[in-house]
Amino acid sequence: MKIKNYLLTFGLIVSSIISTYYATATTTAQQGATQPQAIATADNEYQVGAVLFMQRAAEFRALAYQAFNIARMRLDEDFDKKNLKKLAKAERKMTRAVVVDIDETVLDNSPHQAELIKNRMPFTGSVWTAWVNRRAAKAIPGAVEFLKYANSKGVRVFYVSNRNEAEKQGTIDNLKTVGFPDVSDETVLVRTTESGKEPRRQSISAKHRIVLLMGDNLNDLSNVFERKSVNDRFAEVDKTHEMFGRKYIVLPNAMYGDWESAIYEYGRLSEVEKTAKRNAALESY
Ligand SMILES: [Mg+2]
Repeated sequence: MKIKNYLLTFGLIVSSIISTYYATATTTAQQGATQPQAIATADNEYQVGAVLFMQRAAEFRALAYQAFNIARMRLDEDFDKKNLKKLAKAERKMTRAVVVDIDETVLDNSPHQAELIKNRMPFTGSVWTAWVNRRAAKAIPGAVEFLKYANSKGVRVFYVSNRNEAEKQGTIDNLKTVGFPDVSDETVLVRTTESGKEPRRQSISAKHRIVLLMGDNLNDLSNVFERKSVNDRFAEVDKTHEMFGRKYIVLPNAMYGDWESAIYEYGRLSEVEKTAKRNAALESY
């Protein structure tokens, strides 16, 4: 009897070890199959609200329409003869241009951000490029309609982006698929040597009169905001406040941007250090 009991207990232990091993092996294999290569270490929970605001808040859509409605009003004003007379003759003759940033200005990359949150992954170039190459970003509400309207009036559209050369074809295809006008090798200006957009803006102004600059990042509008601290960014915005809603049109992006890099003081920080900087930057009472 005793031997039987021992054998039964031994058998149960062995089967329990075997089943635990297989359960663990299966889970690991599934994770290996579904999780991207990047090490899952980032705490992106703080971004959930920002991504949901972009994907689920009708207020976000309203803000986007508001931005493109203002842009249209300003463009119409520019065509008003009374206003044209105020310009120097040489400027009057120049072809108009509207300069837009791409990410979070005309294309919505919130699914990429959501993917990072779900997999607890930090932002990496390879995961980003894979997203770009899916050519799956949707248009920001109101963007296609406004740019088509501008283009129908003879205004050139320039897409100035810090996506890189390797991502250019995917970007062009994506922009065309969702219906943007004037999309070509010539009008999509990606980052080559530097991320600052001023030289690209200047190359456009050499042959065009830029009527509007649109972006979700202040650096899309002017280089005066570049690499500035949080307080200096505030000061620059206060100094140029009359430009907003006129030549400068800003779109909301709470997911990422130079506003966040400024909190990190533009440093290459670990995820833990970033969390600490974010918490330290909070203003409470
Ligand atoms: Mg952007």
